[in-house]
Amino acid sequence: MATPRYTALRGTRDLLPEEASRWRFVESTAHELFARFGFEEIRTPVLESLELFTRSVGAASDIVAKQMYTFQAGDEAVCLRPENTAPVVRAFVEHALYRRVAAGFPERLYYIGPMFRHERPQKGRYRQFHQIGVEVLGAEEPLADAETLHLLDQLLRHLGIPDGVLVVNSVGDANCRPAYRDALLRWLEPRTAQLCEDCQRRHRDNPLRVLDCKVEADRALLAEAPRLDEYLCTPCRDHFSAVCRALDDYGVAHRIDARLVRGLDYYERTVFELSHADLGAQSALLGGGRYDGLVQALGGPAVPGFGFAVGLERLMLLLPPDLGQAHRTDAAIIPLGAEALHGAHRLADHLRREGLSVLVPLTPRPLGAQLRRADRSRARFAVFVGGAEQATGKFGVKDLDSGEQQTLDEPALLAQIKGDPRR
Ligand code: AMP
Repeated sequence: MATPRYTALRGTRDLLPEEASRWRFVESTAHELFARFGFEEIRTPVLESLELFTRSVGAASDIVAKQMYTFQAGDEAVCLRPENTAPVVRAFVEHALYRRVAAGFPERLYYIGPMFRHERPQKGRYRQFHQIGVEVLGAEEPLADAETLHLLDQLLRHLGIPDGVLVVNSVGDANCRPAYRDALLRWLEPRTAQLCEDCQRRHRDNPLRVLDCKVEADRALLAEAPRLDEYLCTPCRDHFSAVCRALDDYGVAHRIDARLVRGLDYYERTVFELSHADLGAQSALLGGGRYDGLVQALGGPAVPGFGFAVGLERLMLLLPPDLGQAHRTDAAIIPLGAEALHGAHRLADHLRREGLSVLVPLTPRPLGAQLRRADRSRARFAVFVGGAEQATGKFGVKDLDSGEQQTLDEPALLAQIKGDPRR
């Protein structure tokens, strides 16, 4: 019987070393930048209870209604997390992190990790994908929204992705949104037959979500629908204009779109998305907003929240090709003959202890094969170890870019490689 051929599941991907190196670059840029803004990392489990998401993201949302990986484990209904705001808020409540919040000093958390949604895979859309996200818990001030969006803007700039369009809107709150919802429902009622199949279902559960429809005909029809901004109460209106003013102060370019809503139930007031033309059909690079009722809905005190999540796969599609390349190997040690293998490994050990990256074979190989392998590792130097080198303690050292060759003892060799300006 033929051995079956195993492949990664549809909608999941392997990151081979070259790509993993670019991911690590993005992740370390995020770690470093978030720390500058006082954010601390939180890592929560990939497995959560299903109820956490029906309660927060909403049972009628596309994510919960259609895209969850759920299963029964013993007597628990569990799922793979489809997003990470609800898990972070769960942890915030569970560990009483709200005790650390003081006026003006919210809890600032961030995460990087995999999420799971059973969607139809295509370019930029996977079933296991990754997000970098931040959550600010305990600040209702518009400045919290603006500063966090400034952080986001900085992240994209550091990654060489400066030309996305940040679109912002306010979706109101529990005070003013019901009136808009009613008005929209009244407007939709005589027109439902003209909507796409999804919207015919959506509009009954949550009419606002119809505004989020990507179907062209629906979008054209909805251009005439009542506008959210005309229904905002004064506190929501004031909050939103203060956010936009603070964004201007921070120099964060943005555009207001009164039709922008988000597909998750927990958002209130500020919502935003950033899309990028180069991403094609899956153009949304990131999204987020304010969720002032979520902590309470998940059993905590009345603590407001604000956050964003960036899709890492989509970010990687936009990352300039020269960023995040794997580091070059410092030295390829080249034993000349079987007797030199031991000495080559002793030298490799010394150099590695000094913090250098070193390539050395495990078995004697022809010189040509060793030089080709050194080239693939983009080694800067080749260090030859033969009988003479072992006797004199001096090695032939070749700069693999310039071809220049020297004979150096070990301290001089170390100084040469460590002082190399290409490191
Ligand atoms: P959402 O919470 O759905 O707005 O997702 C936030 C961001 O995560 C999106 O803007 C995408 O960049 C990314 N994202 C969401 N779903 C997927 C997916 N299935 N595959 C890849 N990235 C995704």
